Amino acid sequence: MDKLVERFLRYVSFDTQSDGAISHCPSTEGQRVLAKQLYQELLALELTDVTLDDNGYISAKLPANVEHAVPAIGFIAHMDTAPDASGKNVQPQIIENYQGGEIALGGSGEVLSPAQYPDLNALHGQSLITTDGTTLLGADNKAGIAEIITAVAYLKANPNIKHGDICIGFTPDEEIGRGANLFDVEKFSAEWAYTIDGGPVGELEYENFNATTATVICHGVNVHPGTAKDKMINAMNIAAQFQLLMPMQQTPETTEGYEGFYHLKSMLPSVARTELSYILRDFDRQQLQERKAFMQQKVDELNSQLSKGHVELELTDSYFNMREMVEPHPHIIELAKQAMLECGVQPNIKPIRGGTDGARLSFMGLPCPNIFTGGYNFHGIHEFISIDGMQQAVQVIVKLAENTAKNAQ
Ligand SMILES: [Zn+2]
Repeated sequence: MDKLVERFLRYVSFDTQSDGAISHCPSTEGQRVLAKQLYQELLALELTDVTLDDNGYISAKLPANVEHAVPAIGFIAHMDTAPDASGKNVQPQIIENYQGGEIALGGSGEVLSPAQYPDLNALHGQSLITTDGTTLLGADNKAGIAEIITAVAYLKANPNIKHGDICIGFTPDEEIGRGANLFDVEKFSAEWAYTIDGGPVGELEYENFNATTATVICHGVNVHPGTAKDKMINAMNIAAQFQLLMPMQQTPETTEGYEGFYHLKSMLPSVARTELSYILRDFDRQQLQERKAFMQQKVDELNSQLSKGHVELELTDSYFNMREMVEPHPHIIELAKQAMLECGVQPNIKPIRGGTDGARLSFMGLPCPNIFTGGYNFHGIHEFISIDGMQQAVQVIVKLAENTAKNAQ
């Protein structure tokens, strides 16, 4: 485990911010640079089937060291960092044996404070890695990469620990929602996998939102305002009427946990045509259907009230709750829980109020829950990670490999 922090610090020195405006894969060249580095490291570890494809996806295998049949399991992490904050020239600082209080982030004037981030109160005595206040850290998800490689290196160095085939995969462009797009599930050849891409120690996630995009298009008529009487139909007024028909207590800012929502995300306004873009989210697929039906009903109601102008609705499903793909295989979750408990980690199962690559992979035939990295405050300058938590993630990965083989005996 001694190389865990060293690996992590090496990976965060690569600028791998992804860019949703660029359509090829990987979206940014920096990701390919890190991919080449990781490819060399996996070769140096003498893993088998080490590949780096043209799209920047890496895969490798640690072959089984037992005779009996054991299901192949996978561990996956992403190489890119979020577009929300810079990932260039990351200057991490290590706070050993944190004893509470504010942590100054370099000379930036920014601080990490327990008043703002009470999670810090539970980390006294641990060693933390923070930013210098000018960039994100990149623990999301380079901590996952460092943890997976460290666990695999540990297994390789300790052949007394018996395991089946361990498949590892590192993907580009997760933060812009494309990490699963070009993932070759068949080539990866695991029966199931875990993304190591969660937050605080104990996090275990296998439920995420079902998601639909709804576009409400309001059609009006534009005429010179000087001669508009009885002719102009202002689409922005129709749009305003529509938004008032939406439930104000079912929005992202008024919901949490398992509650779903309607979210007006953006609008493209003009007199002749106004487009409202909503996202609809619900953990229950039936209830998501009801949300769609509700919007259609409101569109119909408004159309019947309008003497002039009209409204259209377009609905597109974007992703589904992986729970329905994971639940038929309860052992995937049981193994993760058991591995955590055996490593002294209390599993904290919670729903993801968003989508994950693991959800997409689950529907592509690779059930893929998400496990903690030990990190906090992803996507911004207050991102930090506990080294103790990272070590626990490595232990859990090792234990998962070991227990999968034991259970198959
Ligand atoms: Zn991530």
